[in-house]
Amino acid sequence: MSVPRFWRRLKNLYNLIGTHCEKCKEYYYPPRNMCPRCRRTGVIVPFKFNGKGEVVTYTIVHSAAKDYVRHTPYILAIIKLEEGPRLTSQVICAHEDIHIGMKVKSAFRRLGEESEKGMIYYGTKFIPLETVK
Ligand SMILES: [Zn+2]
Repeated sequence: MSVPRFWRRLKNLYNLIGTHCEKCKEYYYPPRNMCPRCRRTGVIVPFKFNGKGEVVTYTIVHSAAKDYVRHTPYILAIIKLEEGPRLTSQVICAHEDIHIGMKVKSAFRRLGEESEKGMIYYGTKFIPLETVK
């Protein structure tokens, strides 16, 4: 991945910015350059999601890639944003609390770091919207 593309992606992850088609009113995350429904007639504009959504399904990951070992086990969920798009993200909460339909909101968390260059990767994770059940 090229450097500019990396940072663009980073910015999108950080701000949860996707796109919205003004013609068919559909929302997209990750952002798309062209509306798959309207094609050339679509009117694509950037859209910042409010970060609220709910858990569609989840899994608890016990083994992960080398860089993520210290984070295991962790919860990986498919989140449906209020505006409609779905994305896969980590959910930070007690494992006994996670459930389908749980309301969550995005939170800015560090995903990992590359030791040699000292580069830190940031990304969106999700936390429970209400901590009190
Ligand atoms: Zn469209």
